[in-house]
Amino acid sequence: MNMDVLRKQDEEIYGAIAGEVRRQTETLELIASENFASRAVMETCGSVMTNKYAEGYPGKRYYGGCEFVDIAENVARDRAKKLFGCEYVNVQPHSGSSANMGVLFAVLKPGDRIMGLDLSHGGHLTHGSKVNFSGQFFDAHTYGVERETGCIDMNRVEEMALDVRPKLIICGASAYSQGFDFKAFRDVADKAGAFLMADIAHPAGLIAAGLLNDPMPHCHFVTTTTHKTLRGPRGGMIMMGQDFENPLGITVKTKKGVRTKMMSEVIDAEIMPGIQGGPLMHIIAAKGVAFGEALQPEFRDYAVQVRSNAAAMADWFNSLGYNIVSGGTKNHLMLIDLRNKDVTGKVAENLLHEAGITVNKNMVPFDDKSPFVTSGIRVGTPAMTTRGMNESHSEAIAGLIDRVISAANTDSIEKVCREVREDVKAMCQDLPLNDFGPTP
Ligand SMILES: *Cc1c(COP(=O)(O)O)cnc(C)c1O
Repeated sequence: MNMDVLRKQDEEIYGAIAGEVRRQTETLELIASENFASRAVMETCGSVMTNKYAEGYPGKRYYGGCEFVDIAENVARDRAKKLFGCEYVNVQPHSGSSANMGVLFAVLKPGDRIMGLDLSHGGHLTHGSKVNFSGQFFDAHTYGVERETGCIDMNRVEEMALDVRPKLIICGASAYSQGFDFKAFRDVADKAGAFLMADIAHPAGLIAAGLLNDPMPHCHFVTTTTHKTLRGPRGGMIMMGQDFENPLGITVKTKKGVRTKMMSEVIDAEIMPGIQGGPLMHIIAAKGVAFGEALQPEFRDYAVQVRSNAAAMADWFNSLGYNIVSGGTKNHLMLIDLRNKDVTGKVAENLLHEAGITVNKNMVPFDDKSPFVTSGIRVGTPAMTTRGMNESHSEAIAGLIDRVISAANTDSIEKVCREVREDVKAMCQDLPLNDFGPTP
């Protein structure tokens, strides 16, 4: 992007951005939650809509002058509904965490019981972790994956739900490479008398493309981020396949008397004024642009490629003797347990960084190491696929990662990192970030 004005005005921040452009251009991005938003998305993020206060919702704002931001928010909402086949959407959550907070605060009271996938088994902080609001305001119980299979066993989830009797069950994950059986989760939720929320922050793009199970018909609420596989601006949103009268006894006074609020009204009110003030209109406009992109046939091709790249990479890792949690991947990511390689997640992350490959260390199920050390790394293909890479790149990348990990405990590690860094640079130069992503 043209940043001449910033360059003249603010050397420090311009320098940081220029460095980040170089980093994104010359290194291999394998963090499963990251992607490269398109130029159109980034232009919209940098637009004058950042100047506008628009508390409220289209047609019902607390500020004047909202006629154009209303257009943008309505476009974003309509496109999201079309993309996911849902009746209701709120595009205002500032992030995936805010979207989850919106639903939890809307349907629960402090101290209510919730059930989510354990953080160390692939879940997210907002699914009941003790260091997060979800574990502090609520009585959180977590389910996990099975030790032998690395997969969620629905019989165990049901057993626990009938024992715990949560008011809300959360399904969805940040580091789980298998699909979710949303219908089975709904059966469990119905038996336990719980609401069901699917958090599709990670696989949203693959779900929009129709490649994974659709949560919409089965879940009361579906939350997501917009910046992971969906490839939009950094943000969140809340959806419902179908709106319904809230069963919580929340009413509203009208001219005709008192009526029960629809769940959509309860959620809208929880996002604003409940937990947020003014919406980020530049980001909401950019969400609209990204949903427009995701509705194009090319996006489905992209999502298919993301998944085959992950499958090819997982196969290659398996053949090189790596342990992939749950055995393989059905989505865009995999979790590699490095305990048989005598390397911690922390060491692997640092060495790969030296080699120009960006991954994150990650707890593996039943990990004996702390979250700061960990026994694994999480690897994902959304960003490299946006860059134009295919299955042969995926295999080559698995090979490069293996070269580094295999040399980790040897004297030649510095030399190996230098060599791999050159290979990575060459691979990146072959596929520069042009239409998608930043160019210097
Ligand atoms: C990334 C993620 C979130 C949170 O998104 P932020 O925008 O980082 O707040 C929530 N849930 C899951 C499952 C995620 O992977």
